[in-house]
Amino acid sequence: MPSAGAGGDRRKSGPVTYAMRCGARRGECGREVGENGRMSLFRDDGIVLRTQKLGEADRIITLLTRGHGRVRAVARGVRRTKSKFGARLEPFSHVDVQFFSRGSELVGRGLPLCTQGETIAPYGGGIVTDYGRYTAGTAMLETAERFTDHEGVLAVQQYLLLVGALRTLARGEHAPHLILDAFLLRSLAVNGYAPSFTDCARCGLDGPNRFFSVAAGGVVCGDCRVPGSVVPSAEAVGLLSALLTGDWETADSCEARHVREGSGLVSAYLHWHLERGLRSLRYVEK
Ligand SMILES: [Zn+2]
Repeated sequence: MPSAGAGGDRRKSGPVTYAMRCGARRGECGREVGENGRMSLFRDDGIVLRTQKLGEADRIITLLTRGHGRVRAVARGVRRTKSKFGARLEPFSHVDVQFFSRGSELVGRGLPLCTQGETIAPYGGGIVTDYGRYTAGTAMLETAERFTDHEGVLAVQQYLLLVGALRTLARGEHAPHLILDAFLLRSLAVNGYAPSFTDCARCGLDGPNRFFSVAAGGVVCGDCRVPGSVVPSAEAVGLLSALLTGDWETADSCEARHVREGSGLVSAYLHWHLERGLRSLRYVEK
């Protein structure tokens, strides 16, 4: 997995330091040097990707944040039944969270502490009650985590894609598997693997082109076809193009067999670019 994204916008974030106590806005950073070295307090909003149990009452929370990329943090006491904070830190939730870390000293196994949080949008409510939405949403969270394999590296486009896709999914605006495929295609695109669905991915010959090859990066012409190329239906290729560009009118009216065919191509393309396949993708109903 290359760590650099399209356009080179995923750069190392600056030092994360205290800001909120003096009323700075979200995402801004200040700096405070205490007796024990640098104290850091920062605030950001993010989507909860995953939670893991830690000890008796704590959890490790993995978030994709707007201003700090992927962050793992310890939330203390959140598994107690009366913890309102814990109830906010569930997968799919869009939250505004405050983090605290103390220089290089071990705080909660070396991870920052997640100390306060407010819900911005509880997308989980509209997702976990429906099997199709839940499996599609789970695959989105896993994809977002896989495409942000280095913690603390900005991934603003990936973050915005995830927020938009979860909102659309929670509102039930389109079929869950279509929202998922659109999200997967756009995630590939913002990470530098934009597939071509019209012009030849190798020589640029004007489309439409008949052959499709994941290794070549999308559709290819007769001269550029490589072993293993397939000949998908024009409708399936048209659907993928519509999903990538946000043409929902075309996508929503696509026949089920072409939707299934398109999903197979998206899945093959995604697996080619991720080192390991997505565990959650196999549960998605097509
Ligand atoms: Zn060509």
